[in-house]
Amino acid sequence: MAGTEPRPTKSMDKTTELEMNMGHNFDFDMGIIGGGAAGLTVASGAAQLGAKTLLIEKEQELGGDCLHFGCVPSKTLIKSAHVYHLMKHATDYGLPAVQVSPVDFQQVSARIRGVIATIQEHDSEERFCGLGAQVKFGTARFTDEHTVTMDGKPHSAKHWVIATGSSPIAPPIPGLVDTPFITNKEIFYLDHLPPAMIVLGAGPIGIEMAQAFNRLGTRVVVVDRADQILGKEDKIMADAVMAVMAAEGVDFQLEAAITSVRDTGKVKEVDITDQQGAAHTLQADTILVAMGRGANVDGLGLDHIGVTFNGRGIAVDQRLRTNHKHIFAAGDVNGGFQFTHAAGYEGGIVVSNAIFHLPRKADYTYLPWCTYTDPELASIGMNQKTAEAAGIQTRIWEEEFKDNDRSLAEGEKIGRIRLIVDEKEKPVGVQILGPRAGDLISEWVAALNGNVKLSTIAGAIHPYPTIGEINKKVVGSLFAPKIFSDKIRKGLKFFFNLKGRACTLAEN
Ligand SMILES: Cc1cc2nc3c(=O)[nH]c(=O)nc-3n(C[C@H](O)[C@H](O)[C@H](O)COP(=O)(O)OP(=O)(O)OC[C@H]3O[C@@H](n4cnc5c(N)ncnc54)[C@H](O)[C@@H]3O)c2cc1C
Repeated sequence: MAGTEPRPTKSMDKTTELEMNMGHNFDFDMGIIGGGAAGLTVASGAAQLGAKTLLIEKEQELGGDCLHFGCVPSKTLIKSAHVYHLMKHATDYGLPAVQVSPVDFQQVSARIRGVIATIQEHDSEERFCGLGAQVKFGTARFTDEHTVTMDGKPHSAKHWVIATGSSPIAPPIPGLVDTPFITNKEIFYLDHLPPAMIVLGAGPIGIEMAQAFNRLGTRVVVVDRADQILGKEDKIMADAVMAVMAAEGVDFQLEAAITSVRDTGKVKEVDITDQQGAAHTLQADTILVAMGRGANVDGLGLDHIGVTFNGRGIAVDQRLRTNHKHIFAAGDVNGGFQFTHAAGYEGGIVVSNAIFHLPRKADYTYLPWCTYTDPELASIGMNQKTAEAAGIQTRIWEEEFKDNDRSLAEGEKIGRIRLIVDEKEKPVGVQILGPRAGDLISEWVAALNGNVKLSTIAGAIHPYPTIGEINKKVVGSLFAPKIFSDKIRKGLKFFFNLKGRACTLAEN
């Protein structure tokens, strides 16, 4: 995880910046392994700043997991599922009922491939060549601290960035290795819609896919050992997401131990023990494994050059340097936050350190994230459980989407914003469950990073009617009891002779 100071090794002590620059003539200033969000950010920044840059990618195309197996296909699929869901609920909007045909998943998959192909143009080899970076496709292995070999050819660089991302983990559940299952690598490219799917894991990937496939017509059951879905989130928010999905027909088996998995030939079976200790067997034609991710470090030769890594990923300090100070690790591979925007941010930190030689440290205090269920669940800063675990005396201000005019107009009544403040009423975090929460959180990205006063948000004009007004309203609810207090009323009456109430409701 970023922030863990690696223990200095002998070789690190020897390899000082001075030595690196003296007497060495490396092929490149910057070498990058992995052409995903982190690697592409470094390549683009370093090359445009004049560093001779080599980018190595093992697949045939750039873009990494986000483009091919992650964010882009999942959000494209989610949109198709959302539209299909709306079609089935047309009468909720005063429209005629629509008789929908079953989903042809090949059409959905074709749309996913189309969106990826369009975005792929931004991540093309030609574009990076135009920026000044040389792209090579193949698998690289470190042979010494400055050199990798690819297809038997050595390539040396003054700085290296390992940005090889992560892959889905298949835990050692009895029978799982002998049972065909899918992960995020296959799910977007299926040739038919599975009639039934067991989703192992209730993290963001499992939950997003569970809702989308259920909406498309798959019978879905989600299994997790935890007592809530989306374990990082406050339970109150995660439970609200689960309630929506359960109402749509997703079955949840929480606090469930998975004891074994098998393929009967006709169907796949998952044996679980529920929270009461009772044994059940779940059946489906498809099993999605979404039980966490492991860093892609195999075959890089890290042992050979003594780069420290553990089960979570490559150990880095706050400047994202490994125990070899000229080798950085950015993105999922360092075991930190597994988001594209985190990988991009970390790519920027690497460029600052390696190219500008600025000692810039990664700071995740206000790293936002969003789970793209419907409604979305977005978060920035601390939530209630992390704030309380940090010993902060929290006060929580809430506003519900059912009280937002635009939400009502759009038929989006579920959800709320939670503003968490400390004892000095300084905001420490915001969570939003509701329509377009991932976009709404951006106002808080600017406010928290810019140290904007809550009174500024409360006083700023927001357009009406927008869902974003909820941001202003929740801050208003914090100030309202102070402004409309008896004390203020009495003071105004005293100084300005206000006459008081003109109307009082009769008591029943
Ligand atoms: C289903 C799913 C949905 C997601 N949705 C979101 C989302 O909505 N928002 C969000 O922020 N994040 C999302 N993520 C997470 C996001 O995809 C990752 O955090 C992000 O891709 C990490 O970027 P990276 O550069 O570290 O790794 P990657 O993008 O995976 O790039 C690593 C690259 O390195 C290459 N590589 C690996 N080993 C080698 C080697 N030995 N030699 C050469 N090349 C190598 C790989 O082929 C790959 O191209 C999602 C992930 C999944 C699985």
